[in-house]
Amino acid sequence: MNREENIKQISDQSKIWDIAVIGGGSSGLGVALDAISRGLTVVLLEKADFAKGTSSRSTKLVHGGVRYLAQGDVGLVLEALKERGKLLKNAPHLTENQPFIIPVYSWMERVTYSAGLKLYDWMAGSLSLGSSTFINKEETLRRLPSVKSAGLKGGIVYHDGQFDDARLALAIAKTADDAGACILNYASVKDLIKDEHGKLIGLKVRDELNGEKYSLRAKMIVNATGVFADKILQMDQPGSEKMIQPSQGIHLVMDRKFLGGNDALMIPKTRDGRVLFAVPWHDKLVVGTTDTLREKPKLEPTPLQKEIDFILETAASYMKEAPTRKDVLSVFAGLRPLARPKEGGTKTKEISRSHKVIISDSKLVTLTGGKWTTFRKMGEDTVDHYPEVSGELVTPSQSLDMKLYGYTMEIPEGHWSVYGSEAKAIQDLAKKNPELAEKINPNYPYLMAEVVWAIQNEMAVRVEDILARRIRLLFLDAHAAIDSCQKVAELMAKELKKDQEWITAEVEDFKKLAEKYLIKV
Ligand SMILES: Cc1cc2nc3c(=O)[nH]c(=O)nc-3n(C[C@H](O)[C@H](O)[C@H](O)COP(=O)(O)OP(=O)(O)OC[C@H]3O[C@@H](n4cnc5c(N)ncnc54)[C@H](O)[C@@H]3O)c2cc1C
Repeated sequence: MNREENIKQISDQSKIWDIAVIGGGSSGLGVALDAISRGLTVVLLEKADFAKGTSSRSTKLVHGGVRYLAQGDVGLVLEALKERGKLLKNAPHLTENQPFIIPVYSWMERVTYSAGLKLYDWMAGSLSLGSSTFINKEETLRRLPSVKSAGLKGGIVYHDGQFDDARLALAIAKTADDAGACILNYASVKDLIKDEHGKLIGLKVRDELNGEKYSLRAKMIVNATGVFADKILQMDQPGSEKMIQPSQGIHLVMDRKFLGGNDALMIPKTRDGRVLFAVPWHDKLVVGTTDTLREKPKLEPTPLQKEIDFILETAASYMKEAPTRKDVLSVFAGLRPLARPKEGGTKTKEISRSHKVIISDSKLVTLTGGKWTTFRKMGEDTVDHYPEVSGELVTPSQSLDMKLYGYTMEIPEGHWSVYGSEAKAIQDLAKKNPELAEKINPNYPYLMAEVVWAIQNEMAVRVEDILARRIRLLFLDAHAAIDSCQKVAELMAKELKKDQEWITAEVEDFKKLAEKYLIKV
């Protein structure tokens, strides 16, 4: 992906794009991927970095949603199970089949959860990731050595997918870009352009890196801005009713020893009736999540103390060694773009998690809700509206079996897996240049070659892009990320031809950001 070349493409005033997508999270990227699979021309504009918003802050599950099944949302689960199965096939380097164990403390729990999970297995059909089974107490403690044993009757093992969300976003962006889409980060949509009949015909864009302004023309404009959707809707129709209800979920990242083993833990019912996951991820443990209504959408939402306490307390009631605040290596918060119900109602669990495509009078197409797992189907459902909006025909979607960038069946070892078929090229960079063979941080496997690779091939332009989303150090260990930012900034400055002033500003900005991922002890 080359940012300069893509900027040149949007400067071409004679061009009329088939689809312009606002937002570079999972929803927008799903639309771009599906549009390109049908041979449409597409431009995607992201105001920050790809997956800077909610799409880098998920629980990292490619799942059908066991809990939606408990709520009776069969259609949603069926759709998600199909997408789960396909995604694991199309991006084996970025996804994994992850066994989960539900510890059971009563025979009633065993019967209920076993029946529900058998149904879940059956619904996945030929795309099943493995059958659920009951395991006895000894086997449960062997596989989850840190789980409390008092009163334990056994465990139920089931399978779901697990992934690196920000890396998957990049792989989708690269797949679409490679197939001819124009994908841009740090390109913010500032206004919409309408014709004399009030129909949308274009966008006003600002390059956030240098302030340059551009106007684009497009036949269909998609608002895929997650929790920010209302801002674009306001540009379309000032004073229109709010559609989005942000709901915050936080995760704590800690050492894997708090769970032990390779299985994930799933608690189907916490004291507030929610689900709690503890999932091994990049050699750490991600524990979450919460569901707290927030009024304002934010790119960097802040975790609330009560959310941190809730997760620690709930984890403590299942783990032999209770994690404390000082064990938290990083905390991250994300906002669910839930559809706001028409008639009040403040319980977020009751607000629909399915996606919606809404078309305004001016033909602005807004995609809201949904989840990461179903990003492709959300894209397909959105692009299906192209004929209605543009008046032109479109071929059926071809994205279901599209292999994503880096696809390989020979998955590289260790942290290299996320690069898939590209890992060798990065390792070669390190072999050729000893400076690039150095580690970014002595306690983690990432090499300086990955910084150069991310700048040259993955549109990374800021220190944060590298440390938060190209490699996930900020999410895994915020202190380690802070310790590494000077070194990363210096190498970036060399590559991007920036001066000392840039290095100082980047390091300062990154440290300020990373502070938010630390917990005060
Ligand atoms: C705590 C939590 C856990 C979750 N866990 C899972 C999970 O395990 N599995 C799963 O399948 N789903 C999960 N989800 C759901 C999933 O993460 C979201 O549904 C998904 O990431 C939403 O993506 P999005 O693209 O709609 O929004 P975002 O990722 O927020 O993307 C919107 C983008 O639009 C950009 N933007 C905004 N305004 C403009 C503008 N004017 N111009 C240009 N760009 C703009 C923003 O910068 C942002 O990057 C979870 C959600 C949360 C909150």
